Amino acid sequence: MPKVALIGRPNVGKSTLFNTLIGERKAVVERTPGVTRDRVYGEAEIEGRRVTFIDTGGLEPEEGDLLKQETLRQAEAALKEADLVLLVVEAKTGLTPLDEEVAELVRASGKPLILVVNKVDGKRDLLNLSEFYALGLEPLVPISAKHRRGLEDLIQLILERL
Ligand code: GDP
Ligand code: MG
Repeated sequence: MPKVALIGRPNVGKSTLFNTLIGERKAVVERTPGVTRDRVYGEAEIEGRRVTFIDTGGLEPEEGDLLKQETLRQAEAALKEADLVLLVVEAKTGLTPLDEEVAELVRASGKPLILVVNKVDGKRDLLNLSEFYALGLEPLVPISAKHRRGLEDLIQLILERL
């Protein structure tokens, strides 16, 4: 079964999107101290094809170097097993240095990817897309996981790449 990993810095909406893609059946992350479960797996059937989605970011340090290290470590681990990467960023905050570092990891992996710009809830948020286009990663799809916009386009792009 093909594996599609959701990768990106904390708070961009990976888990929200993951839950939407798998139909909100899973994705409760263990918070038990000492139990490292930084990847959550969920299966979905999209247009008759079974796909495993991988959510990353179970353990998210509050800030600083640790957050950066953890984000990059988890991205790397998920990249290893992914057949396709959803690199998730978000339009409200815009592009951050950590987004660029994660993007560099994904690019270096050579894995097929889709750049998912989340939190495009309304027209105003479209204005922020140019900095993401400037990353030069294609295809780019604007979505709102929360308001369920752009999900059909995303699903079509996923199917085309599996
Ligand atoms: P993760 O850390 O990348 O897994 O991000 P989460 O899925 O936990 O989401 C982080 C925050 O962003 C939560 O408060 C979500 O409700 C919010 N969020 C997720 N998707 C959207 C969206 O499309 N629009 C807006 N405005 N907020 C969103
Ligand atoms: Mg999460």
